[in-house]
Order: sequence, then structure tokens, then C-alpha cells
Amino acid sequence: MQQKGVLLVISGPSGTGKGMICQKLREDMPIRYSISATTRKPREGEVHGREYFFYEKQAFETLIAQDGLLEWAKVYDNYYGTPREFVENVLNSGEDCLLEIDTQGAMNVKQAMNDAVLVFIAPPSLTELRRRILGRGTESIEEIDKRMSCAADEISFINRYDYVIINDEVDKAAQKLLSILQAERCRVSRNDGFILTE
Ligand code: 5GP
Repeated sequence: MQQKGVLLVISGPSGTGKGMICQKLREDMPIRYSISATTRKPREGEVHGREYFFYEKQAFETLIAQDGLLEWAKVYDNYYGTPREFVENVLNSGEDCLLEIDTQGAMNVKQAMNDAVLVFIAPPSLTELRRRILGRGTESIEEIDKRMSCAADEISFINRYDYVIINDEVDKAAQKLLSILQAERCRVSRNDGFILTE
């Protein structure tokens, strides 16, 4: 019997370093990454189909109407969503799939797919988080303030996640994420088609 892949859902406030942790995981494991759709404008260096699928609002709303998204949410005044077909195909083929999405999206995924594994990446402190966002230099001060107030809201969702990783060192945090994925693959409930003969 083909074992279904693990759906690994990563959230955490903007600037926590979750992108870097996911990047390291992808270097170490053959996990498929779901590229989200968004109405946010591309940042410098971002490419359509690599970081995101960038859509106009109307095209995004068509995707919603056609049930083409596994989940979607409005984050910082823009729509973000997970293309459904890609995720379903990956999991059904037995490969693991990684989603990097916000807390609202993660709650919706868990409702739709109860065996999804939710991991929250937390910063060591809010002061450190602000320092990291400032250091990135891509957001205006107004945007940074907005993201800091959203961070507090997102952190309040931690107890609805399966795991939490505090990102004080990227390599260690990525190692923890890898361990979580490996342990999840060993769950009896994911291996119930496996029968020992002799
Ligand atoms: P950014 O604009 O910084 O790339 O992302 C902003 C926020 O949107 C992040 O918290 C990110 O995790 C979240 N996000 C990215 N893609 C998705 C998605 O497909 N669905 C949801 N719900 N959130 C997403």
C-alpha cells in the first residue's frame, strides 16, 4: 500500500526566519514546496512561479470561486492562498509537502486535513523580531509596525499548533524541523498498511 505523504505546515510571524529554515529543510530532504498564490506585488528579485504566483485581485477571486485553493486568507491587506491540486497530487503520490502560510491558513488546512502537521516558528523575543525585520530593509516603518502588531496576534495561536520551534539559531531550528518530519513519517497511523510477514 502506498503511504500518503506528510503535509507539513509552517507558520510564524514575518521576520522570524521561517523562510531560511524551510530552505535548509528543502536542502536536506526531498520535500515538495507549495508555491502560494498572492495579490501582493513582487518584491525586488521575486519571480512569478518561484516565490509566488502573483495575480491581480480579480484572477485570485476567480481561483477562490473555482475552489482552486486548499485555503486562502487576507494577510496585511493582500490575498494569499494555497493551490489545491498541487498539494493533493504530491500527497497522493507519497511525497511530503511543505506549506509556509499564516495562522488563519494553517487553521483552515487543519480543518480540511486533520493529519496535517502544524509547526510554529517563534522568534526569541519581540524585540529581536523587530530588529530582524528592520535589518531586512524591505518594509517601510509603517509596514513594520503593522507586521509587529500582527506578530502578537499570530503568537496567540501557538497552542493550536502541534509543535513550536524557537528560532535562535537557524541551523539548530532546521535540524528540529527535520526531526519532526522524520518522527511524523514513523507514526503508526501513517503506516497502517504495513504488515509484517514472518
Ligand atoms: P510575505 O508577504 O512576507 O511573503 O508573506 C506574508 C504572510 O503571508 C506570511 O505570514 C506568509 O506565511 C503568509 N502566506 C504566504 N503564503 C500563504 C498562503 O498560501 N496562505 C496563507 N494563508 N498565508 C500565506
